[in-house]
Amino acid sequence: MSATSIVKFEVRFVSSDIPRDDRIGQLSNWCVRFNESGLTPKLEGTDRSLGNLSFRLKPHSPAFVITASALSSKEKPVAGDFVKVVESDSTQKIVFAEGTRDPSSESMMHYEIYKRREDVGAVFHGHDQEIITHASLLGLPETQKEEPSGSVELLSEVMKILDDEDFLVMKNHGFLSLGKTMDEAGNLALRIKKAIKPRPVVAPIPPGT
Ligand SMILES: [Zn+2]
Repeated sequence: MSATSIVKFEVRFVSSDIPRDDRIGQLSNWCVRFNESGLTPKLEGTDRSLGNLSFRLKPHSPAFVITASALSSKEKPVAGDFVKVVESDSTQKIVFAEGTRDPSSESMMHYEIYKRREDVGAVFHGHDQEIITHASLLGLPETQKEEPSGSVELLSEVMKILDDEDFLVMKNHGFLSLGKTMDEAGNLALRIKKAIKPRPVVAPIPPGT
């Protein structure tokens, strides 16, 4: 774990191999689309994008490929910017990974989602403020309690409402968009973002009218 790391678990590297998979290009394209559409905005004062995107490697196994922690939004991510997570132990707070960078700070959560939901092939997490604000107006399921990012507490809040939902909001934090494929997860988030229409500002009625 590097000194600048924000991950709240220990990373144990089982190999320093950069993940190889034909679908990594697709994941990289989705990182760019999420950055461009504001779904993964920059952390204030940095070029780090706030969010993490992953896909499941094969059916019936929770192993996945995810964006590295503290990913820059300046350039299109390359293979070395992705990490393979082979196993996660949320009780001991240890994530077993393959790659050269720390896996995203929300890796434990991605792992538990893949474990719980066999139907899910991609988990995309972003921080869009408009979606967070409009969660109840849009009828989106939302976690009850705000918990720190990357924590086991946040993961258990999400698990309480995961059921068969494909889109949910983490209170005052961000959203999770799930799909059988990356295109499903990505397009679902874009559709929800589009559904939020700017509201006209209504001027207060002056007294006596
Ligand atoms: Zn987040």
